[in-house]
Amino acid sequence: MPSIAKQVASRRTFAIISHPDAGKTTLTEKLLLYTGSIQTAGSVKGKASARHAVSDWMDIEKERGISVTSSVLQFTYDGACVNILDTPGHQDFSEDTYRTLMAADAAVMVIDGAKGVEAQTIKLFKVCTLRHIPIFTFVNKLDHDTRDPFDLMEEIEDVLGIGTYPMTWPIGSGRNFKGVFDRNSRRVIAFEGDGHANATKKVGEIEAELGDPALDELIGEENHKNLMDDIELLDGADNEFDLDAVRHGRLTPVFFGSALTNFGVEPFLKDFLRLAPPPLSYTDTLSDEPVEPSRDEFSGFVFKIQANMDRRHRDRIAFVRICSGKFERGMDAYHVQGDRTIKLATGTAMMADDRATVDEAYAGDIVGLFDPGLFSIGDTICAPGMRVQYPPIPTFAPEHFARITQVDTLKRKQFVKGMEELAQEGAIQIFRELGTGLESVIVGAVGVLQFEVLEQRLRSEYHVEVSRTSLPYSIIRWIQNSPEELDVRTLKLTRETCRVEDMRGGRLLLFTSDWNLDWAIEHNPGLRLSEFGNVT
Ligand code: GDP
Repeated sequence: MPSIAKQVASRRTFAIISHPDAGKTTLTEKLLLYTGSIQTAGSVKGKASARHAVSDWMDIEKERGISVTSSVLQFTYDGACVNILDTPGHQDFSEDTYRTLMAADAAVMVIDGAKGVEAQTIKLFKVCTLRHIPIFTFVNKLDHDTRDPFDLMEEIEDVLGIGTYPMTWPIGSGRNFKGVFDRNSRRVIAFEGDGHANATKKVGEIEAELGDPALDELIGEENHKNLMDDIELLDGADNEFDLDAVRHGRLTPVFFGSALTNFGVEPFLKDFLRLAPPPLSYTDTLSDEPVEPSRDEFSGFVFKIQANMDRRHRDRIAFVRICSGKFERGMDAYHVQGDRTIKLATGTAMMADDRATVDEAYAGDIVGLFDPGLFSIGDTICAPGMRVQYPPIPTFAPEHFARITQVDTLKRKQFVKGMEELAQEGAIQIFRELGTGLESVIVGAVGVLQFEVLEQRLRSEYHVEVSRTSLPYSIIRWIQNSPEELDVRTLKLTRETCRVEDMRGGRLLLFTSDWNLDWAIEHNPGLRLSEFGNVT
């Protein structure tokens, strides 16, 4: 049996992020195909098909054909144990993506080669930089006409503020996309096939040296010449490959390809697994020291809670990122926030095709624990003899607000329970307006679809009808000053500004515009505001 250290070292845990439609799902599926985890492409998420293999638990997801929740896919490839944390592409569910990124050691950013860096790319990228994790870029859809690769690299550098290092370089694009040049091995990889269909099998490759006359025939004389010019330019640029800069998120290795036709997927996968880091250490806030992932004792934190994944069992699953040691089914663990020892009765892992029970898992892995309502997002669990506490997960700023009021006042208990439990999952945030009771609450969400999900779930899971009124706020700021230092009631604010409290007693202000925010800052010297709640 390999030691814990060996097991941990073989782990690669990452999330794939993209603006919707850039090709995240297609790339995920092709990675599974290449690693032999699925036999045919098309089984991860058939948007129109009946088979929603990975996350099929929510009606809204089926109705709209979008993937609402993240799931974790695990597979082994070439000696590595790979965990892909899938994330919903739809921007209304980006809160979920944000939290998932807290559990990832690296991110793959998929960019549509014709569109370049898009709005959602920027947002998600910002979250990755909060954690300084390495970011790998896959420029996708090269089988369509795309923008000039040099332009794309410049855009990534200018808009996202990260250095780029092309690992592969495309040979032609659109109908003329013939292959990629691998800068590490210095070889041309020409793809076989016409490269226009959704490939369900691995693509054939022919390798050759740059300058080999045979290449003129293989990729075309003009392509060959252009490639030689491009490579000369790239080699001449003074951007050195710097692994340390990659590991700290200052330099992104860039790959070009087409997830649909499989062109460029394998060179990406190989280099990615070579360069992506093994599990990173998380900091223990009690000692302010990093916790070594290969340490014997088990520890981890809850980054996501999902209720009713399986309608038949009405279960609630807490997803735990293991930060150190080994998890064993049935083991005793200390739940730090609850201050008690519990039995981790069952763990589940999301496999490519099915949900399977896991008996053991190691640092870097994600396990789903059946949660009878014990956990909140950010909670730490660890071996009974160990005392660590991982940092809270930042709460991301909702951009849409609504007042939710219960229709039947007799169901107050269910209403409060439902709101609290659903807020614990993190998709919505609930706030209390100062001086009001609990029969109506202000709900904030990153996307408006979350309100629909909330209403639907309150109805079906808690049998509570609510009414919803949209509120004009769009900007939220947490007050950083302590209550002793500042009494919110004395703040000078415009009439449109609202004073609220979050579930943890944090104090906030809701603004309808930047103008109102600026007004508050100007008229209240000493007021300190933060875009994120709970950041330490
Ligand atoms: P996601 O929203 O980022 O998960 O994107 P999907 O993987 O669902 O892809 C969005 C659309 O782009 C789908 O119609 C895919 O078939 C298509 N697509 C994905 N990758 C490629 C590609 O490499 N080339 C082309 N032409 N289309 C692609």
